[in-house]
Amino acid sequence: MATDLRIDRLRKEFQSPGGETVVAVNDVSLRIEKGSLVTLLGPSGCGKTTLLRLIAGFEEPTAGSVYFGDRRVNDEAPNVRDTAMVFQSYAIFPHLNVFENVAFGLRMKRVSGREVRRRVDHVLDLVGLGRMAARAPSQLSGGQQQRVALARCIVMEPGLLLFDEPLSNLDAKLREQMRLEIRDLQQRLGITSVYVTHDQVEAMSISDVLVVMHDGTVEQIGSPSQVYARPANRFVADFIGKVNFVKATLAAGAVTVAGVRWPVPDAPDLPDGSPVTLVLRPEAVRLSATEGPLAGTIRRTVFLGNHAEYVVSVDGVGDVLVDEPNPIDAGMRRPGDKVSLSPVSGSLHVLPATS
Ligand code: ATP
Repeated sequence: MATDLRIDRLRKEFQSPGGETVVAVNDVSLRIEKGSLVTLLGPSGCGKTTLLRLIAGFEEPTAGSVYFGDRRVNDEAPNVRDTAMVFQSYAIFPHLNVFENVAFGLRMKRVSGREVRRRVDHVLDLVGLGRMAARAPSQLSGGQQQRVALARCIVMEPGLLLFDEPLSNLDAKLREQMRLEIRDLQQRLGITSVYVTHDQVEAMSISDVLVVMHDGTVEQIGSPSQVYARPANRFVADFIGKVNFVKATLAAGAVTVAGVRWPVPDAPDLPDGSPVTLVLRPEAVRLSATEGPLAGTIRRTVFLGNHAEYVVSVDGVGDVLVDEPNPIDAGMRRPGDKVSLSPVSGSLHVLPATS
């Protein structure tokens, strides 16, 4: 049965060999709803793996609690927590064939032979390995091995499925395919899942909710579109996607950038004239070859197939990164071209200058 998960002021300190205390997870609280896929996302060392391991029971918290539904599981060993973890390294047994790898946990639980066959066959079909049951792991590709690892978890019907950077060892194309498969399976089976990655595209494409972490703390919790469009601070804005930070002043629901007023939605409640930072995504600006209020010159161009990336040197602002879709149809702009900038106003976001 899927379960919901609650983490209450969870803290984990490690002692480094030099006797220093490292706070890997710093009083984190969050709630993960039944059936959802939540991703812990952040740069290396932000504490996401430690948080996942605390949930699994592989680490003991220094303080705080983990609840599965109403049950406080702090004192429960990993094997009784009703969780299963898909590891980056697959961790499948090389001496057992695919069927026996997937059957292993059920056999340990003394499930009857007939039931084992029924459940393993079903799960192997779900992950597309129905015809490979007799193969040895050495006869499988990396993607197939990762499917075995996934099947081995799913067959146990855990209340909570944990993923520790499961796709890091796969090439880019396969990673893209596997993440869609994982998401599809997770939704079909309705398994509550916690997924750890440092790859923001992977995180955005599979998650109901992102938990963006930095230095052991949570910077923002929200849907991928909330976190991308309305980042809580500069760290989140910079970590998720590309961004320009532009100095501006705020007055009457609009920012003034180099003397030009751009209305913004959801402007923070600050006194008129406050200095702010405009979070300007590359696609939140339109370029025009005609003269306009905010003028600039194309400085660098990069053709990326489905879009072009331009660095525009803007008078009174500095360099601004701008994306334009479909350069094959629209034609590439050239270094030295004069352009003017206008905003896609719904896409603008403003942070206090101190954020
Ligand atoms: P990565 O993406 O590189 O795996 P992460 O975000 O998962 O990073 P953690 O592995 O959770 O980060 O580590 C968080 C912090 O805790 C880091 O500063 C790390 O050095 C430290 N840390 C983790 N495990 C231990 C340990 N067993 N002993 C001492 N320090 C540790």
